[in-house]
Amino acid sequence: MFKKVAGTKDILAPEISWWQKIENLSRSIFSVYNYQEIRPPIIEEAAVFSRSLGEFTEIVQKQMFLIKNKEEIYALRPEATASIVRAYIENNLDKISALQKLYYIGAMFRLERPQKGRLRQFHHIGAEVIGSTDADIDVETVSLADSLLKAYAIDGYEIKINSLGCLNDKKELTRLLSNSLKGRLSDLCPECQERFKRNVLRILDCKNESCRRVIAKCNIRDNHLCDDCKTHFERVKQGLSDLNLNYEVMPHLVRGLDYYTRTVFEITHKSLGAQDALGAGGRYDNLVRELGGPDLGAIGFAFGVERLLLVTGLKNNRQEDRNPVYLVTLGEQAKKEGRKILARLRQAAIACDTDYAGKSLKGAMRAAGDLGCQYVLILGDDELNKGVITLRDMGSGEQKEIKQDDLIRTLKC
Ligand code: AMP
Repeated sequence: MFKKVAGTKDILAPEISWWQKIENLSRSIFSVYNYQEIRPPIIEEAAVFSRSLGEFTEIVQKQMFLIKNKEEIYALRPEATASIVRAYIENNLDKISALQKLYYIGAMFRLERPQKGRLRQFHHIGAEVIGSTDADIDVETVSLADSLLKAYAIDGYEIKINSLGCLNDKKELTRLLSNSLKGRLSDLCPECQERFKRNVLRILDCKNESCRRVIAKCNIRDNHLCDDCKTHFERVKQGLSDLNLNYEVMPHLVRGLDYYTRTVFEITHKSLGAQDALGAGGRYDNLVRELGGPDLGAIGFAFGVERLLLVTGLKNNRQEDRNPVYLVTLGEQAKKEGRKILARLRQAAIACDTDYAGKSLKGAMRAAGDLGCQYVLILGDDELNKGVITLRDMGSGEQKEIKQDDLIRTLKC
């Protein structure tokens, strides 16, 4: 028997209804913020990601699902920002509108060691705004993330923000951090010792206890920020405060990918344990140009749907009952007429079903009960002769004959 690939999931009923709910709520919030959906392919040239995320990032080095085809190497997308920027440039979206507000919902793939909250196929709900460096866009983006979480009935989350500054500032941050870590390399985990050589900022992301202790001693504030980036960050913080959004400035917050500049943020939830990030994002003001497009600022974020589902309060609400009408037919003629009745009900948008397994009346009634049907329709020779159908209310047990012509009206009442 075949088994699913480790780190993937079959999403089945009844859980699927929570997915649909989260997706539908997201679509309506995105539309309130004037976002358009974008659906790039899930497969891209691998270089789209290595150029964007950075050669020395964990995702590119270890986690990409690669597919070799002759001379070309494709990757299943590990995240969507790079794909969306590629699509933005390829489709000249800047010519359509100076500011593009885009959202996406879909599967991402990372070759990770599967564990709670870490899958190999997981799902992002994300947003990207391309075309502006205005700090007000950062504020709107964080506020959108907050609105989404409120719509998902999630509380107790924490919004953490920081500014990495522009490319020069990031170099300065790297220099400051290298200087302050130089004398303590032996206290870092082997991976961070490697990071020290290639990508020092990633050390700030390390969850290892001894690395965390070393990092806590590094005095990193906003010393690396140039005047422009300082002003930008001040405006972001002020804007968030004006909207009464609760946030915390975390000088140690960096995002693991090379493309981030200026504002970065992460939203965490304590109840998630070790993998506590519900979502994260930030500015990437150089990526559009880096991938061959115009020089435009951009910002985005993504939530992990599987983690949203672990903490959503929507599950506390009673599942809406699915209560299709169930038709039980007795005899060949009734079965034939029954098919027409089902077609008429469906045309009138009344959910309905019937038995296809030749069940007895008792068995069919049990099936209707299992489906949670409120009404059962019974059609036999007697009903056919009189042009009626028996309607049984499964709640009260009451049963009455109604004219077939009145059926839709009665069920819609
Ligand atoms: P990232 O692109 O790594 O910043 O991820 C954004 C969000 O996606 C994270 O905060 C998680 O909620 C979720 N996520 C990332 N990687 C995984 C994974 N392997 N399995 C499940 N969720 C993930």
